[in-house]
Amino acid sequence: MRRTALTWALAAATTASLALLSAPEAHATTLYVRTNTALRTSATATAAAVQTVTPGARLRSTGVTRSGYTKVRWHGTTVWVRSKFAKAGFGSRSLNRLQSHGKVAVLKVRHAFPRIKRIGGWRSWSNYSSDHRSGRAVDFMVPSWSRAKGKKLGNAVARYMIKNRKKLHVHYVIWRQRIWTTADRKWRHMPNRGSANANHMNHVHVSFSNG
Ligand SMILES: [Zn+2]
Repeated sequence: MRRTALTWALAAATTASLALLSAPEAHATTLYVRTNTALRTSATATAAAVQTVTPGARLRSTGVTRSGYTKVRWHGTTVWVRSKFAKAGFGSRSLNRLQSHGKVAVLKVRHAFPRIKRIGGWRSWSNYSSDHRSGRAVDFMVPSWSRAKGKKLGNAVARYMIKNRKKLHVHYVIWRQRIWTTADRKWRHMPNRGSANANHMNHVHVSFSNG
């Protein structure tokens, strides 16, 4: 009896594993939209557009590609998106290892602030918090940060994060030795950590909630 039950259980487990392997979900990957682009009813530019998606939008790939398009799930159906405009990879380990909220924010900032070119995400070390190590934090490096135009740009990125804090799941923002948290909702001065980088003079740090 025990043997029969065990055999049955093993058989069931094997069947379940096979089902999992062959299910489309096994290949499902999150794709991140890079530019404004249409979701179409078939894999051609002349097919009807059912929706336009914007940078940072997330799509679930079915793993099926055709003629430069990828088939994605969309509200209980499937549609097609240009493969080069909806990709999983971010081109660096630091960004690839970010959690989803950070990845979305990277694409939003790249789109809204094209002057922000250098962006760091995950890294194995941090003196002050686990946010970078957990893939929950992004550093937006500000060009010309010591000059008026750099300050203006960093201010704009920080303001953008605060304004869109709910949509982007922002936990806190650090910029120019000040921290703004969603709990406080105001800027607070931070102690001097000894360098322009450690004091966040040259970059806007944003931590996101998990997810
Ligand atoms: Zn940081």
